Amino acid sequence: MSKPNKRSFADPDTLFELVRSDTPVDVDGFKMGEPTGEVRCRECKKVAAAPEYIPHLPGCSQNDVTSNWYEQTHQ
Ligand SMILES: [Zn+2]
Repeated sequence: MSKPNKRSFADPDTLFELVRSDTPVDVDGFKMGEPTGEVRCRECKKVAAAPEYIPHLPGCSQNDVTSNWYEQTHQ
């Protein structure tokens, strides 16, 4: 059984979460609980504007994940 070397952000076995602001609007420009538009890797906790930009820590099992979803929705 062959395994694909790239996984998608949208695959159910990848662990990402959308970042929501946990500070008031005057701190970061976003209201409490409002999505900041960033994505966090749930394994290494690194954050970026899109999954493929996340600077995963060495050894993070998700550093091979790309985002077909992002490519398809941001053209
Ligand atoms: Zn990671």
